[in-house]
This record gives sequence, structure tokens and C-alpha cells, in this order.
Amino acid sequence: MRLFFLAAAALLSPLTPAPARAQPAGPASRPVLREPAPPETARPDSFDDDNDDFRRALLDPSRSDRWLVPTSLGGVLLVVQKGYIDDIRLDSLASDLQEAVAKIPALTGREPRVRKRFTVYVYNDGPPSAANIPGAQPGEKGLMLAFVKEGEDPLFHELTHLLAGRGGSTSLNEGVAEWVQDRLRPGRANAFVPAGADPDALCKAALAKWPSAFRSTIGAPGDWFKGPRRAIVFDYYYCSWSFVGSLLRRKDMKALWRVIDAGGAPKAYRSAYDATYDRLFADWVDGLNRPKP
Ligand SMILES: [Zn+2]
Repeated sequence: MRLFFLAAAALLSPLTPAPARAQPAGPASRPVLREPAPPETARPDSFDDDNDDFRRALLDPSRSDRWLVPTSLGGVLLVVQKGYIDDIRLDSLASDLQEAVAKIPALTGREPRVRKRFTVYVYNDGPPSAANIPGAQPGEKGLMLAFVKEGEDPLFHELTHLLAGRGGSTSLNEGVAEWVQDRLRPGRANAFVPAGADPDALCKAALAKWPSAFRSTIGAPGDWFKGPRRAIVFDYYYCSWSFVGSLLRRKDMKALWRVIDAGGAPKAYRSAYDATYDRLFADWVDGLNRPKP
């Protein structure tokens, strides 16, 4: 089992026994992970996806508990299905959120696209994780986070979408999000990515499995290859992650985001990497086929 707990317990209690006369540590001496959110009536924006009703139902105070997690970007409103996770898991989730808000802008080199409070929905049985959906109040952003209890939530992946933004290439958007997730939690399972996943090996197998139309979607403008969705979408993510990794070994984040912002347009590859998309793609595939040292 891949249960994953941060050292939340260490934050809650001193590592060494306190001397008898020591005063308990004051609130200023330890980070505040979360506090109960004052009651508010949720008025989420309407959104045209299949999960609008699910989110509205979860926002009902009889269905969820609400916490505020302080961050440098106006905080996070955590909406957690009643009884779903215990206090230790809640604390480690709050700590992960604070870490994501602090680290993702630096890691991606992007000014945060969201600079005020956003909502994170946490639930047991429900839709897959998603970013850029409505938060609790008009104009607020939100994201849905599945598999929190199992410690397999794609928190850093989804927050990369939310904080760093995205362009017109689904492949590049997903590739960089998974790259960040793996950089901040190396080898940890998340969503449908198994623990210890090697994107290069998984992608090499995928390229041999699917028709050539599949490979032409990797790093390219637009959406994924329209095949048998569930089967192909995992491979699409692995290959996108692997391809983005190859671009980041060649040049830095700045070059990568020039291409993401241009939606994977061939012209953008040429100006950011001084090489054509076809050349970069062929070099990447060569690398996949070379035996690893
Ligand atoms: Zn994603």
C-alpha cells in the first residue's frame, strides 16, 4: 500500500521532550496549517461540465467541513466531505497545498495565474481530479482532488494547471503538470500513474502499441488522439510527460513555456529550440530506444 503521510506529526509535536517548566509553543512559533473557515453561503459560478451538480451538493454545509489554509496567494478554501479523512491526513494535505503554492511558481518560472483564494474539493466517491473549475464564490477558481485518502492525489499536477496556466496543446499541458508532480513527489503514485512509473519505458511500449496517428499528437497542438479513450489516455499522458522531460533536458523551463504558450505551434519550437519539432521528436524517440546506462 502506498499510504503517504508527510511529517505532519513532527509539526504538531516537539521532537524532543519538553523540559517541565517550558511554556507550550505559541501559535507564532509553528506554521498554521489550517483553521476552521467561517460560515459562508457558497455561490459557485455555473460551469458546463458533468460535475457542476456534484460540486454544489458537496458545498452544502451538511455534506462537508470547510477549512482555510493560509498561503501567500490569499489562502485555500478546503471543502472536505464529512468523515472522509482524519486530522493527520488533513494536516498533511494542508501542508502539501502550502508547499505547492510556494514551490510551483519557482519551479515553472511562472507568475501565479491565480492570486486570490481558490477552492479545493476533497471527496470519497466522485469524479476524477480536475483544475480550473469554479470555486465557492463568484469569480473564484477551484480544483477537484480525488484519491486524497489513499495518498495518491495528483495535487501538484492539478496545481500546476491552476497556477502556471496552460496553452492550446493538451499534451504539453499534461506533460509539464506530470513532470512537476514527479519532481516534487518522485516515484509516488498519483491518479492513474503507478508508483515508480518510468515515463520513458511506458511511452516506448505505447508508441509500439498505437497507430502512428497517436504519436503525431504528442507535443502537438490540440487534443489527444481519439482512440479507445481509457486505454489510450494513460499512454498519452506517459508519452507527453516523457516528451516534456526530453525538452527540459535540452533547455530550461523558459524555452518550454514559450512553446506551451504558443500551443505547441511548430514555429514556436523552432524559435525556442533552434530545431524543428520533427527533429526534436526524432531525437526524443532515438533516446527512448537507446539502452539506459
Ligand atoms: Zn492534468
